[in-house]
Amino acid sequence: MLQITDLQASIDGKPILKGISLTVNAGEVHAVMGPNGSGKSTLAQVLAGHPAYEITGGEVLYNGENLLEMDAEVRAQNGVFLAFQYPVEIPGVTNAYFLRAAYNEIRKAKGLEEVDPMEFLDLVEEKLKLVDMDPAMLSRSVNAGFSGGEKKRNEILQMAVLQPMLAILDETDSGLDIDALRIVAEGVNALKRPDNAAIVVTHYQRLLNYIVPDFVHVLAGGRIIKSGDKSLALELEARGYDWILETVA
Ligand code: ADP
Ligand code: MG
Ligand code: MG
Repeated sequence: MLQITDLQASIDGKPILKGISLTVNAGEVHAVMGPNGSGKSTLAQVLAGHPAYEITGGEVLYNGENLLEMDAEVRAQNGVFLAFQYPVEIPGVTNAYFLRAAYNEIRKAKGLEEVDPMEFLDLVEEKLKLVDMDPAMLSRSVNAGFSGGEKKRNEILQMAVLQPMLAILDETDSGLDIDALRIVAEGVNALKRPDNAAIVVTHYQRLLNYIVPDFVHVLAGGRIIKSGDKSLALELEARGYDWILETVA
């Protein structure tokens, strides 16, 4: 589904990603871990098509097509979804409106007509239960005045409604209490199908108690310095990152 080869990217002329290679197949969950400032969010943003980043080398194929040539909008229409580390507030646009507009964009790209509003409401209500969110949140502006945990749940609600093919979650676990963490993880697990995939960026191991990854990658200094299975995450939890950094040095 996703084949990243030697990806290099800069922001404001500063190289951040220094040659990332990563293959994600349908049905897989990949965890990306690593110290602060290692480039995890940059990788997520580059994959989602954030225009501030300059691609300076490498290639990314998404279902065999050049992802880097697609606008962020086209990527989203084609099933790429990014849950932000810092979800944006959109004052004046209700959650319900935003969700339906995004959902219809994806339908339009598939040549389908707009969803029936009542049918859509049923769908959203079912997904609200998944993230244990109050239906009243639908009539509030997107993320405006939401608590940190509510914003993260709202990202998962968006994901559950849009049903992406490739979901990228950037530290959706940070700032969550243990109940919210479990809800977020259940939301992600409920989405898992043989034909979609997820890249879960996390700073801590604890999310991976609930979302069991097929692969774990350690990103440091803009490179993947180690990959393994879920036991690598446990090892990181126990030993920190320094031992890997030393091994690589
Ligand atoms: P992580 O998500 O792993 O904590 P980031 O991808 O957010 O790391 O950041 C990687 C590096 O890129 C950091 O050193 C950060 O300071 C730098 N960086 C991010 N955004 C900018 C920017 N707009 N200008 C300059 N440097 C940036
Ligand atoms: Mg960080
Ligand atoms: Mg980050």
